Amino acid sequence: MKRFLTILLAIFMTISLVACGNANKSQTAIANGTYKGEGNGKGGKISVEVTIKDDTITDVKVLEQKETPGYETAMDTLKENILSKNSLEVDIVAGCTLTSKGYLEAITAALKAAGATPDMLKKNQGKDADVTKKEVSKTHDIVIIGAGGAGLSAAIEAKQAGADVIVLEKMPMAGGNTLISGAEYAAPNNWIQKKEGIKDSPDQFAKDTIKGGDNENDPELVKVVAENALAGAEWLRDEVGVVWQDDLMFFGGHSVKRSLIPAGANGKEIIRKQVAKAESLNIPILYNTTAMSLITDSNGKVIGVEAEGEDTKYTFNTNKAVIIASGGFGSNIEMRVKYNPAMDKKVLSTNTVGSTGDGIVMGEKIGAELVGMEHIQTYPVCDPLTGTLLYFGDARMYGHTIMVNKEGRRFVEELERRDVISMAIKEQTDSVCYQLLDQKGLEASKLEEQHGAEMEYLYKNKLLVKANTIEEAAAFFDIDAKEFKATLDRYNGYVKDGKDKEFNKRSMPSTIDTAPFYILKAAPAVHHTMGGLKINTKAEVINKDGKVIEGLYAAGEVTGGVHGTNRLGSNALADITVFGRIAGQNAAK
Ligand code: ADP
Repeated sequence: MKRFLTILLAIFMTISLVACGNANKSQTAIANGTYKGEGNGKGGKISVEVTIKDDTITDVKVLEQKETPGYETAMDTLKENILSKNSLEVDIVAGCTLTSKGYLEAITAALKAAGATPDMLKKNQGKDADVTKKEVSKTHDIVIIGAGGAGLSAAIEAKQAGADVIVLEKMPMAGGNTLISGAEYAAPNNWIQKKEGIKDSPDQFAKDTIKGGDNENDPELVKVVAENALAGAEWLRDEVGVVWQDDLMFFGGHSVKRSLIPAGANGKEIIRKQVAKAESLNIPILYNTTAMSLITDSNGKVIGVEAEGEDTKYTFNTNKAVIIASGGFGSNIEMRVKYNPAMDKKVLSTNTVGSTGDGIVMGEKIGAELVGMEHIQTYPVCDPLTGTLLYFGDARMYGHTIMVNKEGRRFVEELERRDVISMAIKEQTDSVCYQLLDQKGLEASKLEEQHGAEMEYLYKNKLLVKANTIEEAAAFFDIDAKEFKATLDRYNGYVKDGKDKEFNKRSMPSTIDTAPFYILKAAPAVHHTMGGLKINTKAEVINKDGKVIEGLYAAGEVTGGVHGTNRLGSNALADITVFGRIAGQNAAK
């Protein structure tokens, strides 16, 4: 889950830095003072000021950063660890690899400005040594596993219903996949639809969802989401303080425009407000604490959770229930392959590293039934370095791109279903694709305006090239230029004829012939795992005999059944909010 940063010294040799002239000479190896340094995170420059006293880092201030919303917490966690160990050999914060690297680069650069290397920091004796974990036993009414959207919804509801609640979160911050998602929320009959005169109904939403899930959905669960989605969005707005934009998005598979967009168009708005609400209700969220197993009594009733913190082994006993809200298993390759052999390591993951299916495994161990585990949704155009979903790839949806392999050939219809394109890319050389776009297409897709920061990141990491000729662009990625040119000439001919003779591409709005040309290198990644614990409409977990497991509830991506074979965009937020609330309310009874 976490890994050591081993490249610090190499980074140290290469990075640029700015020294601040406030250093005093002393007997120490590093002169006391404050020093500035810069590194490169995911969003660009991270600039820090490091204070050194007696060869010890006493403070790190971030002066400038443009990281993904929510990832500032990663820097806070790193700072805490660096200060407590007086070392830069700290674990990268899982899920925030590039941010962590950029932050550590910046501190290394600051040390260089001090004329020092990380190994000159005073050794911090004892603190690093392995200590036996202390054992703590506690009792609460309800223990919730996971502080993503489902877990936090459950926590707020349960607490407001009068229960004593604690939330366990294995990562150093709240949010899970909810935080890094666009967090659009499908809500039939919502207030913006009414204003815009869009006719909709829970029934229509349910029909769309079941069609999108190839009829493999549990219709009872879908009905619950459909009938409560709007109330959930209103609850987030009125009770939790989430700000929804005054606009809607139209996602594939929905028959009408019905998806609300949170302020900032990402999950930070939801999670920040939910955490603030939880704090205002005095709900403890125990970070860096991993639930390991469920405790049951002789009748199979769940009566607690065993968990591990950094230096503590916990036994949490429950008076009422445990709610599993630990998300999906998109980041667990072994588990993916177990249920769907095509989802091997060649397919990256858009998920946070916390999405390892822990709750599914814990539930199964005590007899829970699993449903739809083989249904794993992929997204075709993601960052080959990190698996992050790339919005630059959206040009494809406007019809402006062709996708080729290293050999310069097209291999799939660019507007096929996500899963078909993903699997086709996986079979190509290096399991990557190259997406070509010209200046006309770039402008028509408004990519520069909307995703300028992502483009900057892509250029910097050599995943996107802008070139005046096709040959130059191809050379950048070592694509067979001759074949590529021939492919493009053929495609432009198809555009003029109005018929793609090779792949029957359904939309070809314009030829690709206007310099400059852009090529994006991308790879498919797992996006959502539809399968999981079987629940009923009360969010109770069901065992292999079809009976309720007493004392156990589940909500969110950890459950199966709502989405069938395929989740429609923006249905996850509705699902996790609706069932998170239901789990919280029922567990508190
Ligand atoms: P959902 O959308 O269903 O709420 P998320 O992925 O947003 O799912 O949130 C799930 C959360 O559960 C993540 O923050 C993840 O780190 C956390 N989590 C996963 N496994 C465990 C575990 N064993 N113990 C504690 N927290 C966990």
